[in-house]
Amino acid sequence: MPANKTLTGGCHCGLVRFECTTDLAMVTACNCSICTKRGLHFAFVAPERFQLRAGEDNLTEYLFNKHAIRHQSCNDCGVEVFARGSKPDGTAVVALNVACIDGIELAKLKMTPVDGRNR
Ligand SMILES: [Zn+2]
Repeated sequence: MPANKTLTGGCHCGLVRFECTTDLAMVTACNCSICTKRGLHFAFVAPERFQLRAGEDNLTEYLFNKHAIRHQSCNDCGVEVFARGSKPDGTAVVALNVACIDGIELAKLKMTPVDGRNR
């Protein structure tokens, strides 16, 4: 089992910064429209394991379809850093765009295919 680590990261220009504790055991490779077009790979974490350190006022929220997932992007550089949503049982969850983690190498991550297009 991968260990939990506290990771830092942010958007491209650096105005939005976060700290997150995750083991990155499950990273999505999802075929839904937004993950495909934005190139998103998410890791899901409990909200208490995700802290915005900077840039909370510099985020734009994007909603579509059922408005179930609230995508958060930097106003300046446009990078989506995370999204807020809830699990089927109603528990709040943060979907972290793992590409925003400092020093991450996407090619070294194990990705889990998700068939979001057909949900
Ligand atoms: Zn930015």
